[in-house]
Amino acid sequence: MSIPIDAHVHSHFSVDSQATIMAMCQAAVDAGLSAICFAEHMDLNPNDEGYGFFRYAAYSHAIDAAREAFAGRLTVLKGVEFGEPHLYPREVEWANGEDLDVIIAGIHWIDDRFVGDRTLHAAYGVAQDPRPLWERYYADMLHAVRSGGFDVLAHLDLPKRYLGSGYAQTPLIDEILTEVMSAGIVLEINTSPLRKGVEACAPDLDLLRRYVAIGGRRVTVGSDAHAPNEVAAGWMQAAGLVEATGVASVGAHTGRRFRPW
Ligand SMILES: [Zn+2]
Ligand SMILES: [Zn+2]
Repeated sequence: MSIPIDAHVHSHFSVDSQATIMAMCQAAVDAGLSAICFAEHMDLNPNDEGYGFFRYAAYSHAIDAAREAFAGRLTVLKGVEFGEPHLYPREVEWANGEDLDVIIAGIHWIDDRFVGDRTLHAAYGVAQDPRPLWERYYADMLHAVRSGGFDVLAHLDLPKRYLGSGYAQTPLIDEILTEVMSAGIVLEINTSPLRKGVEACAPDLDLLRRYVAIGGRRVTVGSDAHAPNEVAAGWMQAAGLVEATGVASVGAHTGRRFRPW
């Protein structure tokens, strides 16, 4: 199978990317995709270097220009990515009132520190036992999913990008996936760990099997590209996961509604 849409990329409207929207769109066309979805960071933690960085009006203009430039060749979708949406209800409410194709959310920060931050790892004693950090991470994710207001749950086991391996021995995961299902949230397969020296997407095969086992049928696939050469990166592995688990529907949201792509 081939996956024709990259449902999670960033541009310079996110603080950690230099890429223009046009360059990312061109990369999608070059990769043979028919659609791309931008998911710019809503960095709302005051400790985040991107705090206050996002400019929605300029972003919307850039998306409109790309839609015009790539008309007939590429569908350009406009989204945002929240970290810790349960902590920022006013901003989530704002996003729900805007003309967005999709609102993606995930957990990037725990206790006011980024999940990749070594001081956070030290505080949790990760070198001795990574479980307390993972338990806290998944507990926060359950809060986020219960608070809702978004369409896609991003990178289910993100901390493995920084810890090297995942952790799945907690009932919190099934609680999260069950809540995802009942809230109509779609699970994302994020290929970015493959570019950080980890040999699996987020979620990995076992986690995705758990999603399917409790009835999960819909996924998006996102590279989390921050540069043109990362668009559609890891696509073979993502397609392998979809095939191995029998997920029925790979797609994306337009106007906040999921459809197979
Ligand atoms: Zn993210
Ligand atoms: Zn992202």
